Amino acid sequence: MRRKIVAGNWKMNNTLEEGVVLAKEINELVEKTDIKDVNVIIGTPFIHLTEVNKVVGDKVAVAAQNCADQTSGAYTGEISAPMIQSTGSKYVILGHSERRSYYGETNEILVKKVNLTLENNLLPIFCIGEVLEERQAEKHFDVVKSQIAEGLFHLSADDFGKIVLAYEPVWAIGTGVTASSAQAQEMHAFIRKTLVEQYGEEVANNTSILYGGSCKPSNAKELFANADVDGGLIGGASLKAEDFMGIITAF
Ligand code: PGA
Repeated sequence: MRRKIVAGNWKMNNTLEEGVVLAKEINELVEKTDIKDVNVIIGTPFIHLTEVNKVVGDKVAVAAQNCADQTSGAYTGEISAPMIQSTGSKYVILGHSERRSYYGETNEILVKKVNLTLENNLLPIFCIGEVLEERQAEKHFDVVKSQIAEGLFHLSADDFGKIVLAYEPVWAIGTGVTASSAQAQEMHAFIRKTLVEQYGEEVANNTSILYGGSCKPSNAKELFANADVDGGLIGGASLKAEDFMGIITAF
């Protein structure tokens, strides 16, 4: 059965000290709350990875928000998958819309990052999602399908089984506008159907598909109640431990 996952994405927020405090608060709340079978992940800036891994227990996993498309060498300012792996982190968020739009990440670059992530025993949280104009032009299904196909369909079924997908409609990220529960379910069901066509029922049914975009304690329950929504990728609301817990306990 697929896993329920709530993953935080801190983006470029928190000094090292602030990040460690937040991670400790989240860890404490997770330890003392009955979170049932929800997998909790926090996606921190690179500089936090080592220290945050030291302060969380085994109920909280840590993710990087990106990795280089090379393993090592003369790539000033880059951080590679082996380096991330050496911090004790388990996941890497890849293809976030902010990286696609501000840093020119193409599906071609993402293929390299996905491969390096898997080769280094890290699990990709692969983001997909349309911009507003694409939805208005009713191209959102095509856009999402091609992001998945071009970024991931080179993988074997075994490797695809390690992927977590995050559907994040770009018009809902950080805007306060959430996709309606019906819009989320419609897209998630479409994504699962796309996976069935490529990899078959078993792989598709075992893939966790998260929703992201202005998810907060007040709307998480309704979103997570959908048959094909397996959790959330949380930006703004992951920066306060109580808000993040409010989402983790929304299942
Ligand atoms: P948001 O961000 O929750 O602040 O909308 C989600 C994301 O970008 O992952």
